[in-house]
Amino acid sequence: MPGVDFANRMERAVEQAREAGLTGVLLTPGPDLVYFTGYDPVVTERITLLALQGSREPAMIVPILERPGAEGAPGASALSLADWTDGSDPYTATAMLLDPRGSYAISDSAWTMHVLGLQQALPDSKYVSMTSALPMLRAIKDADELERLAAAGASDDATFEQIRQVQFAGRRESEIAADLDRFLRDNGHSEVEFTGVASGPNGGNPHHETGERTIEEGDFVVLDFGGKKDGYSSDITRTVHVGEPTDEDREVYEVVRRAQQAGFEAVRPGVECQEIDRAARRVIADAGYGESFIHRTGHGIGLATHEPPNMVEGETQPLLPGMCFSIEPGIYLPGRLGVRIEDVVTVSEDDGRRLNDATRELQIVA
Ligand code: ZN
Ligand code: ZN
Ligand code: ZN
Repeated sequence: MPGVDFANRMERAVEQAREAGLTGVLLTPGPDLVYFTGYDPVVTERITLLALQGSREPAMIVPILERPGAEGAPGASALSLADWTDGSDPYTATAMLLDPRGSYAISDSAWTMHVLGLQQALPDSKYVSMTSALPMLRAIKDADELERLAAAGASDDATFEQIRQVQFAGRRESEIAADLDRFLRDNGHSEVEFTGVASGPNGGNPHHETGERTIEEGDFVVLDFGGKKDGYSSDITRTVHVGEPTDEDREVYEVVRRAQQAGFEAVRPGVECQEIDRAARRVIADAGYGESFIHRTGHGIGLATHEPPNMVEGETQPLLPGMCFSIEPGIYLPGRLGVRIEDVVTVSEDDGRRLNDATRELQIVA
């Protein structure tokens, strides 16, 4: 990630930890470590941990056999590197970097065995999850991140343009998923993380696993796909109809389309996240389908596909310029059909901007 000011990100984390009354933050491999160092090692049972705290210099400890990789990380010059050797106690070595009485926010994805090991090595230290203590740590995207997220979104848009032209009727969900995978890679994705294809009655389950059902004339098909492009995530959903829709099909689709639009139009700085959920949900409830929208309206997105903040009732975090999240209302009629429309949007200085703009009009496919 050329041009990323890792030292600046580390300083901001230290500041946020101080404001939250914490000694510092502890980052383990995954999106958190990538954000602060650009270092993305294979996750194994051997502890790797970056400690950021006001009282000491940024320090990262790695297994000695990973040291060459860590030294080559883009952010390595902004921190001091320690290592530990197989046969020694990794938690005693890691504890050397920490305040014995410190309270730390630690990455959500830190392994339980590591947290327990640190607790045992430093019985007076305390740990809280990053999401509960510092949910906004990675939430505000800078210009470079926004550009990458927009490019990942554009790749999804192009993929939808291609998929809506393929044959659906008579083919299996898994075959459409394979098409999506190929198109996403053709459009620049380095990783394809999900290619959800839920046809006909399978669409009634919002988390249907793509399977071997043969798609038929008259089906709605929910297509939810995305992955990584240049390190950043994409996530889009479009629902297409195979052949001529019924009046009910058109009505359900239109309600979801209007709900998604209402959620989008509610986006501006200062509005609480839960207001985005309410705006979308109100349209669906007013149309009589309130019981059929059984999940939150959206989730933050960035280095990870799902990250804070969530667009959900009870989330009072105000929207801030640079936040990026999905708006993805749906209606699910179990055993019959499902419709969902999802775009990633970002908060600009005075409203919202979509990072997906593939058509949201009902598309009829063959
Ligand atoms: Zn139909
Ligand atoms: Zn999705
Ligand atoms: Zn999503």
